[in-house]
Amino acid sequence: MKIIQIKSHIKKISKEFGLKYKTEWFGYMWISVRYEILTEYIGMCPDPIYQKYGKTPKQRIKNIDKFVNSKDFKDCLKRYGGQVAEKSELKKEEKLIRGIKSEKLRNELLRFYKKLNSQFGKTDFLALLTIPRNEKEKEWQMKFCLRHEWIHILLSKNRIYFQEIHKRYWPYDEGINEYLGAYLDGTLNKLEKFRDKEKYPLEKKNWVYAIKFKELFKDSKTPEERKKTIKGLIKKLKKDCKEK
Ligand SMILES: [Zn+2]
Repeated sequence: MKIIQIKSHIKKISKEFGLKYKTEWFGYMWISVRYEILTEYIGMCPDPIYQKYGKTPKQRIKNIDKFVNSKDFKDCLKRYGGQVAEKSELKKEEKLIRGIKSEKLRNELLRFYKKLNSQFGKTDFLALLTIPRNEKEKEWQMKFCLRHEWIHILLSKNRIYFQEIHKRYWPYDEGINEYLGAYLDGTLNKLEKFRDKEKYPLEKKNWVYAIKFKELFKDSKTPEERKKTIKGLIKKLKKDCKEK
């Protein structure tokens, strides 16, 4: 799958869900798995394997050496995938990195963040993808990973970011993303199957929430109606949040 095809997928979603689209919003950068894991860890990714080393940014930084030398880290290095980096978060994360005890790790990460910062250009978001180790990984990275990260960027640029309402709403961000991916692939009727087949609890949750979106969009037939459905959900979650 080529970049131009992925962009046409993103454009299709923007058209059919009444969202704004600008081609310059969508950039990407290849990074090593080591940096993928470390940036996710520092950026407070809720994966339980990272949560073991801290539930606040400060705790994570304090335990980063322990994490890098753990079996957990070794296991993580076998992964591949991607994430979205946000320019406005880099400064905060750099500040955290300055608090890392190990000079070697601290300098290594500061160098990486400098490089990352220079890749943004005029955009606020950048998709980071791990360097593929073979052709199969490469195909997967382009078709599913880059598309997934760019859907996150499209939604964020359209102010659809559920975590912004409350941190605990992050499964909605993943759920709507998987829903849109299945929408593009014509596999909305398979979401339940994907959910049942998924063994990793965090990923399973994404499918559970994708199914919630399928229900939610059931009666939305036009781009305007679909957009209204999303905005309605945001409004409802904001209200729920205030009441609690
Ligand atoms: Zn995601």
